[in-house]
Amino acid sequence: MNSNLTAKRSRPTKSTTNWKRVRTWKSAGQFGKPPRNPGPRSNRISWSCAISKYKLAEKYHQPVPQKIPAHWINNRWAQEWPDLVEAANIDKYFEGHSADWIIKTAEQFYTGLGFSPLPESFWKKSDLYPLPPDSKRKKNTHASCWHIDLENDIRSLQSIEPNARWFFTAHHELGHGYYFKAYTRPEVPYLLRTGAAPGFHEGVGELISLASSQVPYLQSRGILPKDFKPDMNAFLLDDALARAIPFIYFSCGTMPHWEADIYAHNLPADQWNARWWKYVSDMQGIEPPSPRGEEWCDAATKTHINDTPAYYYNYAFATVFKFQLHDYIARKILHQPPQSCNYADNKEVGTWLNNILKKGSTEDWRKVLKEATGEDISTRAMADYFKPLQSWLEEQNKGRQIGWE
Ligand SMILES: [Zn+2]
Repeated sequence: MNSNLTAKRSRPTKSTTNWKRVRTWKSAGQFGKPPRNPGPRSNRISWSCAISKYKLAEKYHQPVPQKIPAHWINNRWAQEWPDLVEAANIDKYFEGHSADWIIKTAEQFYTGLGFSPLPESFWKKSDLYPLPPDSKRKKNTHASCWHIDLENDIRSLQSIEPNARWFFTAHHELGHGYYFKAYTRPEVPYLLRTGAAPGFHEGVGELISLASSQVPYLQSRGILPKDFKPDMNAFLLDDALARAIPFIYFSCGTMPHWEADIYAHNLPADQWNARWWKYVSDMQGIEPPSPRGEEWCDAATKTHINDTPAYYYNYAFATVFKFQLHDYIARKILHQPPQSCNYADNKEVGTWLNNILKKGSTEDWRKVLKEATGEDISTRAMADYFKPLQSWLEEQNKGRQIGWE
């Protein structure tokens, strides 16, 4: 891989180049050692887990288990719990739209905020759509965005289909593209043409993904009908399960603890798989479908173990950070509730965002965050976002066992 080439992928397969990897190791140290126990009994995951566990047991006609079997979740690592909330599934509203319309609408999100259109070369050189089934060529179907020359050659690899997941992903990937564009200017040296911290790039992509999932935005793009009445509890629960709460426990719990055991504490190789599943069990409330022996190394099915070691903490950072930016934009600029807002065509949002992006890595991330939001890194905004869900969850979970120990 060319060392001048920067890849930004959506969450599950984040990859970096050699020089960036060095930076990653260094930057990871800024966060210090992960907490020994991020809180398996903590309220938020326990309440989210309880409702999922009882609903899934009902769906599969099984007794309610102590821990959720991994194969009940639509993600093999149970890092995210997507597609569990039927009332929040909006795929049918994408029928009739083309994949091309999806990516053009995503670009329009940014031009509406005042950013310039993507360079012509992006459209010529990107690989955006699924291959026909009989194609001789194979491609990685996982989305990524690339800053090929640290100048204006920006490309994306996607396999866009007309559904909600790809709509949000296209917005996410162009977040990387517009971040690349913003710091590609003479004042920013090549080596600093990257995010202010490793988590910033993913955080910005995730921020726009979150913005693109807001009901008023989807209505303004003609996807959801004007008279669409969302079940807000269902939408918030889906946000929590698919994009926030279980993921925090995976990204700053299971992954960094297991990697610390391997790299820093010399855990013998014949205990690797057992240790992995212990963390999955303790921190995520998930158990394997059947016993897993040491002939496997299930953690290594995450590509990061090979190509981006000790990186996962940055995704936890990105998740927390995106809610802080979103909270500021919604409350302070749009004056709308963070759970139901619309960034579309707001130039003030674009200017504010560009002030963060255009700096690249020329300033300390703490300063950038504080100047932009007035806050240090904090889970306050994320907790506030999900606050309306709490009383509903308490009602739903009445009489149920909360937690898994
Ligand atoms: Zn990404």
